[in-house]
Amino acid sequence: MNLTNFRFEIDPDGVALATWDMPERSMNVITPEVMDELETIIDTVVADPNVKGCVIASGKSAFSGGADLSMLQHGAAQYAKALKEQGEDAANKQFFDFSRRLSLLYRKLETCGKPFAIAIHGVCLGGAFELALACHYRVMADDEKTKVGLPEIKVGLFPGAGGTQRVSRIMQTGDALQFLFRGDQIKPRAALGAKLVHEIAPKAEIVDRARAFIVNGGKAQAPWDVKDFKTPSGRVFSPTGMMIWPAANAIYRRETYDNYPAAKAILHAVYEGLQLPMDQALTVESRWFAHILRSKEAAAMIRSLFLSKNELDKGAHRPKDVGPTNLKKIGIIGAGFMGAGVGYISALNGLDVVLIDRDQESADKGVATIDKLISSSVSKGRATAADKDSLMARIVATSDYAALKGCDLVLEAVFEDRAVKADVTKRAQEVVGADVIFASNTSTLPITSLAETTQKPENFIGIHFFSPVEKMLLVEVILGKKTGDRALATALDFVRIIKKTPIVVNDSRGFFANRCVLNYVREGQIMLVDGVPPAMIETVARMAGMPVGPLSLNDEVALDLGWKILQATKKDLGEGSVDPAQERVLRFVVEENGRFGRKNGKGFYDYHANGTKSLWPGLSALAQNELDPDTLDVMEMKQRFLVTQAVEAARAMAEGVVTDPREADVGSILGFGFAPFTGGVISYIDGMGAKAFVALCDKLAAKFGPRFEPPQLLRDMAAKGESFYGRFMPRKLAA
Ligand code: NAD
Repeated sequence: MNLTNFRFEIDPDGVALATWDMPERSMNVITPEVMDELETIIDTVVADPNVKGCVIASGKSAFSGGADLSMLQHGAAQYAKALKEQGEDAANKQFFDFSRRLSLLYRKLETCGKPFAIAIHGVCLGGAFELALACHYRVMADDEKTKVGLPEIKVGLFPGAGGTQRVSRIMQTGDALQFLFRGDQIKPRAALGAKLVHEIAPKAEIVDRARAFIVNGGKAQAPWDVKDFKTPSGRVFSPTGMMIWPAANAIYRRETYDNYPAAKAILHAVYEGLQLPMDQALTVESRWFAHILRSKEAAAMIRSLFLSKNELDKGAHRPKDVGPTNLKKIGIIGAGFMGAGVGYISALNGLDVVLIDRDQESADKGVATIDKLISSSVSKGRATAADKDSLMARIVATSDYAALKGCDLVLEAVFEDRAVKADVTKRAQEVVGADVIFASNTSTLPITSLAETTQKPENFIGIHFFSPVEKMLLVEVILGKKTGDRALATALDFVRIIKKTPIVVNDSRGFFANRCVLNYVREGQIMLVDGVPPAMIETVARMAGMPVGPLSLNDEVALDLGWKILQATKKDLGEGSVDPAQERVLRFVVEENGRFGRKNGKGFYDYHANGTKSLWPGLSALAQNELDPDTLDVMEMKQRFLVTQAVEAARAMAEGVVTDPREADVGSILGFGFAPFTGGVISYIDGMGAKAFVALCDKLAAKFGPRFEPPQLLRDMAAKGESFYGRFMPRKLAA
């Protein structure tokens, strides 16, 4: 047998072992070649009378991450080609055949007549876990690193190789739907409890246990292929079914606002599939899968959340001619909210950390914050006591700058005050010298001007984290005018070590993410003054796809901070630079009513002792008109929320603040949760086309004001029929 991606051997008991171990890849993924070879293995096992059955295992440190998503992108391109050349019917047929190949292959394995068992260690996700579900027996290593799951929903897809049908025949319908909707990765004991695997065992024994299933005469028949099989929740059309399905539909609506076709397709596939025998059920699933695979939401999400994110994670903008920086020890000045967060993730990822503050007490406070974060992980079972000990041992907290000696990078996160920042940088440089790279976590001060306070501005860069640091996935790396390649490479290497996603941004007021998100918050404030009921503002924003309403978000960030930024903007850029409605709202809540947001228990919301919150009734005093909610145009409100952010992103691209549409897209989803189903701020514009977007901006500008006016760049693109991806990444697109 001629195999490249598997090793195949047969033991004296007649049990075959297929070890999946793709050459030149650190992780196994499902590719067309892997499918071909798996088919060969099935055929061989079936044809050889000496082979009783087969164990599938992995030769890598993990099982597999699932299908190669670029293969799916390729399928979409093939569809477009076939559509042009052969017409819709032929294109649809070809696409359907392409999209269900894996499903048919797994069904062939399941019904081949000989038993297949699988030994899983490390992550086993997506299409790889669907392979496991088709095997007759599943053994999972009982360790921290081993997890199974079907995370397809996270990139706008759903498990289309039998996953929806097998899971809903193993678990109660409600649990199955949750598992499919959430895309969570689950640990061995939970997987065993949910009956998703048959057995858990120490890693060293999993192959033997899987083999034992075959040697002991394990059946080559899935439970659902046994006559009179009953699904765990019984029939769809039954009193139990009627308890489940209306609720499931309501939960779907509540969680997605109907923005995610893949989630709806899961409901369809399970609901329809459970009423059919397995083969027809799989066909139903395949039809939904082909439909979703061609949806613009899946294309946008795969591009931004998988392909582009991976490219940025690997350092798409790292200067090629700077060698590895080999970071081992990092200095952080300012052990407050942000500094402690950065210290935590740095130590968590193996770096030695020196945490400096004004005095020992303040530095110790930072350590206490870190202790709390890691202790919470330990109590949730995500880390061990030994992990905590080794993490804490990597941290030195002091007020003595001499401890910075030997640091490969120093980052300051002291008060947002130019003089304080200049002072701490100078003191640190006296110890480590001017050749060590310095970074600032400032959120508002221009990096170029901060760099001027150092001896070598080329070694100075912005590394802007989002709060809470341990949760937020994005980091903005900001280039000052004189920032050099070594500083950029060092910053990107650091971001890679701490497992965040970087976007590289040129110096500008608010950098990128805050510029866009502040527009979102402002739109909510303007609506308040217009007289839109506050509850409607919050709900419609979520209907547009934002994770939280603008008033809630503003409360979390702090209203007094917003008021300070507004005043600073006015001082720097003049009277006309701030929106009068926004000024009115912030003056009213902050100055006149002392409401600062969640931090003092009162903002746009009242925060109650029992942990709940409710909109502050006093907000009604802000409304200039009393609008009847029934007369408000919900679609237009949704557009206002998304367009105000997208047009700001377009301005940032026009000004050269962001130069790569992938960064704007990924940054907008990871940084501030911009409606993920759109693929991000730029994909939102490209998705509707520059012409339609400009027309929409003009319409909104005529009705609501110049804040919606598009930049000249967009008008030029509209006239030429260009897209951002076409204009800014022509080579990539042609590839
Ligand atoms: P913070 O007040 O929680 O922490 C600041 C820390 O700096 C304090 O521990 C303080 O004792 C210390 N400090 C002050 N002067 C010092 C000095 N001379 N020497 C040594 N230490 C000194 O503030 P924070 O929220 O962590 O913000 C820090 C920086 O991060 C600011 O530049 C802020 O703009 C930026 N930032 C904040 C956020 C956020 O959401 N809070 C987000 C991104 C960036």
